[in-house]
Amino acid sequence: MTSPPDNDLFTAPYSGLSVNSAKRFVIGQLREAGLDSPDLDARLLVMAATGFSHADMIARGTDLLSTEALELMSDYTERRLAGEPVDNILGSREFYGRSFKINKDVLSPRPETEMLVDAALEILKETPDARILDLGTGSGAIIISCLAEAAHAEGVAVDMSPEALTIAEQNAKTHGVADRLTFLCGSWFEPVTGVFDIILSNPPYITDEAMTALDIEVAKFDPELALRGGADGLTAYRAIISEAEAYLKPGGSLLLEIGYDQGQTVFNILQALPYEDVSIHRDLSGHERMIKALLKS
Ligand code: GLN
Repeated sequence: MTSPPDNDLFTAPYSGLSVNSAKRFVIGQLREAGLDSPDLDARLLVMAATGFSHADMIARGTDLLSTEALELMSDYTERRLAGEPVDNILGSREFYGRSFKINKDVLSPRPETEMLVDAALEILKETPDARILDLGTGSGAIIISCLAEAAHAEGVAVDMSPEALTIAEQNAKTHGVADRLTFLCGSWFEPVTGVFDIILSNPPYITDEAMTALDIEVAKFDPELALRGGADGLTAYRAIISEAEAYLKPGGSLLLEIGYDQGQTVFNILQALPYEDVSIHRDLSGHERMIKALLKS
């Protein structure tokens, strides 16, 4: 077996490169560029380029790369070097134990958002055939996880972006919940009718000022529509909270993800309306991440 050249591997008319050598080469490139997790990223990119599983990576490390796999690996590596997150390159992201298709039209679901699913499932234990509404569904990760875990629940998912809804619909089919989930295109409650046991949302909450200082991976690869929350970051909360009352059953729950410093202000917005049992919940890093309120019965 030959080893890779020191110069640009991908432009060399190269043959006989093993999976292991390819991975080492990609690790070197990513490390040199100062990326955070070169080993893991390289492994995932080589797996995607070759179609190898984790087990294949161990058992078949000396297999030679096909020309096709080499080209794909070259493309993926260049994209990673340009700052694109691995999840976007692979087109999928893990959330609540399932893989969700993602692309530039949807926010990549973050691990801390799993809190909303936990909170919804807690409520669903008491109300097994509940109706759930997800506002700004994006990839659909939150509501699809809820419906996949709670077999009798039904849901409505809303997004302003038709492109996002296309992705969410595919994810709903993949996870077997499409028959219990209706998708509507519009702004917040605008296309919605009926009442719900749970209304949940991870709305855009980043202030205009913070939008200017986002990590490149977020700024370039998550849609602005899913991030920008207006001058004080609270535009979406005002819209959702003021209208939610008309779409919640008495005693129904509102579950909203919040930014780490927005707990008190969102709490105050809720306090001015007929909600009770308003509580702020922290994520695993200790940051305020979710606010929960019940509509007075
Ligand atoms: N949690 C995301 C971030 O900090 C923001 C998501 C949102 O605005 N809802 O990048």
